[in-house]
Amino acid sequence: MTRNAAITTVLPVYNRIDVTFDHGDGCWLFDTEGRRYLDFGTGIAVNSLGHAHPHLVRALQSQAARLWHVSNLYRIGEQERLADRLVANSFGETVFFGNSGAEAMELCIKMARRYQWQRGETGRNRIVTFEGCFHGRTMASISAAGGAKMVDGFAPLLDGFDRVPFGDHDAVRSAVTDRTAAIMIEPIQGEGGIRPVPPQCLEGLRELCDEHGLLLVFDEVQAGIGRTGKLFAYEHTSIAPDIMGLAKGLGGGFPIGAVVANAKGASGMLASTHGSTFGGNPLACAVGNAVLDVMLEDGFLESVAVKGSRMIANLRKIVANHPEVYHSIRGSGLLIGIRAEMPHIEVVTALREHGLLTVPAGDNVVRLLPPLTVKNEEIDHALDILDRVGKALSS
Ligand code: PLP
Repeated sequence: MTRNAAITTVLPVYNRIDVTFDHGDGCWLFDTEGRRYLDFGTGIAVNSLGHAHPHLVRALQSQAARLWHVSNLYRIGEQERLADRLVANSFGETVFFGNSGAEAMELCIKMARRYQWQRGETGRNRIVTFEGCFHGRTMASISAAGGAKMVDGFAPLLDGFDRVPFGDHDAVRSAVTDRTAAIMIEPIQGEGGIRPVPPQCLEGLRELCDEHGLLLVFDEVQAGIGRTGKLFAYEHTSIAPDIMGLAKGLGGGFPIGAVVANAKGASGMLASTHGSTFGGNPLACAVGNAVLDVMLEDGFLESVAVKGSRMIANLRKIVANHPEVYHSIRGSGLLIGIRAEMPHIEVVTALREHGLLTVPAGDNVVRLLPPLTVKNEEIDHALDILDRVGKALSS
């Protein structure tokens, strides 16, 4: 059979870099050519405890030897334990497990609509979202976010999203009508360029939701699970959402997503209204529980906050020394963005060539997302590379 040379066997939706990794150990990745890289990309905020963490490896191996999959038609012990622990450590009262961030956000949207429908508000099905947001690649998620690259050619999009400019309080207020069901927001925009929403703004959204009978939905797929130095980003505020999407760091590299909701938020989701064949399977939940074992240890999250503050303070000095390359720093804990002065892809490439992996984001930002287990020596090594690259690209 002849093949079309223009198409690769892997669908070419990614502009891939010509590096293949062979194995990982803690903060380090080793490629098939024997080069090693300090991994401050962590598969885009996924390998929350680094590579080959012994506790996670043991949890996965021991679960793999016992039971891989059973249907959600039956009780799943590891799933119930993980749900109990997420509930015990959050505002939530109930959890649904899926396999990815987009799936989690899809359910957040369904849950918000269904809540209004269930209480007789059948015309309230619109959701206010924010420019620069990213909620995944399903039809609902791309419709919520907009953005030409994501939506061109995929029409008809899902109706029911009212997007407002990021940080524009008046626009949010005027977007709320008697057709609005919910406001959905990332407490820190990830793909949009590590753009934190100030706590008082999130608190203002809570008030607005309460005033108008709306649900508040947080997308913590990237910012949640310890990354900001708290288990959840909303804990930096005095409020909580009604519904929260999680994924990425929860599995430390094993695919899992989750929606955590309070009883009100979940009240429309009755038997048979949603489901997933693989969601919450024993393997994913065994690893999720192992991730929580580590993150809930005394002092772990505090150590993330301390390492993050130290790193941000040192990064500020490096940025000030190389103003032609770096513009500014933003973020929280170990969710850090450097806004670049020159094209950010050139900075990401130079850093990689010097052995440091980072991830580009919107708004010309270079993301630094080290494993939460990163040691200060490893942070210093990364800072040294950032300084050297700053020098090299300035000259
Ligand atoms: N929501 C946020 C905030 C994200 O950062 C992402 C992924 O980057 C998603 C949702 C989608 O997650 P996934 O790629 O697992 O579907």
